[in-house]
Amino acid sequence: MTEKTAGGDVRLTGISKHYGSFTAVHPLDLTIPQGSFFALLGASGCGKTTTLRMIAGLEDPSTGTVHLGDREVTGLPPYKRPVNTVFQSYALFPHLDIFENVSFGLRRRGVKSVKKQVDEMLELVELGQFARRKPHQLSGGQQQRVAVARALINHPQVLLLDEPLGALDLKLRRQMQLELKRIQTEVGITFVHVTHDQEEAMTMADTVAVMNGGRVEQLGAPAELYENPRTTFVANFLGTSNLIQATVEQAAGGEVQVTSAGTKLSLPAERCSTTPRAGGDLLVGVRPEKISLVHVEDADTIPTGRNRVTGRIAASSFIGVSTQFVVDSPVCEELEVYVQNVERDVRLRPGAEVVLHWNPAHTFGLDAAQDIDAGVESVEVDA
Ligand code: ATP
Repeated sequence: MTEKTAGGDVRLTGISKHYGSFTAVHPLDLTIPQGSFFALLGASGCGKTTTLRMIAGLEDPSTGTVHLGDREVTGLPPYKRPVNTVFQSYALFPHLDIFENVSFGLRRRGVKSVKKQVDEMLELVELGQFARRKPHQLSGGQQQRVAVARALINHPQVLLLDEPLGALDLKLRRQMQLELKRIQTEVGITFVHVTHDQEEAMTMADTVAVMNGGRVEQLGAPAELYENPRTTFVANFLGTSNLIQATVEQAAGGEVQVTSAGTKLSLPAERCSTTPRAGGDLLVGVRPEKISLVHVEDADTIPTGRNRVTGRIAASSFIGVSTQFVVDSPVCEELEVYVQNVERDVRLRPGAEVVLHWNPAHTFGLDAAQDIDAGVESVEVDA
């Protein structure tokens, strides 16, 4: 299909943006590998759009440089950079049909025979049969695919996507996520995607940079970020985490023993983002789906070597594929537990005494000096 453009990585070096005394983006070093699908993820106002706009040339950085491969583009206007941007508002020309919308960039550059390329692009976004329709005769998702085709036909080195799916309803958004991922894999160019939707970032991106307050808080592959968050913000913003305040009893031989409200728990030292010291505090984290839950009468069926916490079910919601429980326990007021609906135990209802248990290997440790609720509110605001 489209040729893989020669070029290189997007490299941001010490790039920052101030508006008066307000710092929207703190000095940032970031390399986005060529051909990758990269997501800038964060709550509203964290600086992700500003970062994207500095790559596009739509915003002048206060400090730092932008390189595309070996070429510095910091001072170049947007149209001289080998990048194209797709916005949430598709900004299609309403009076032109789809074919003409897609061919626009080629015609502007004086290309005479556009048909082959436009047909190829429409094929890529699976809209070949809609070539002669006007934008208003297409659905939101189809219009967004036209916007992607219109950008890709210019063979940019990098495609920047600024919340491109924000205007679509949830189901269409899910479809378009898979569609955009397929298109990116097919054309092989670098996609830099800005979103506040953590599921969207994790579904599509090879690498996600989680931004908070104008800084990249953590960067990595989706599974790596999810399994090994290094800050409370990432732990709470990316999915749900149970964070338990604990005191370190012992940290030797690769295993860390802690206590919380008299309950002993253990976790691997390598999964701690801080060096645990005996007598010090640690936030102990575990994801809700890693926890199993049994009625207290069945507590003797729990294998040895598991982390165990007793509690009482405060609430439960059946959501088809799983049941989500909120459990009050001495170690944490509201522990979240997701149990797959394989065999449902009718005794597991609000008020029931239960024992939660999980593999210590599925436990992570975070620096206790952080705000335990960082990132929680942002999720609620966005939901
Ligand atoms: P959103 O998802 O809401 O767009 P964002 O993470 O993309 O959020 P930015 O648009 O990058 O955030 O904005 C970062 C911060 O910089 C915000 O607090 C915003 O109010 C501020 N900001 C952005 N543009 C300007 C401007 N032109 N003048 C002053 N402040 C600005």
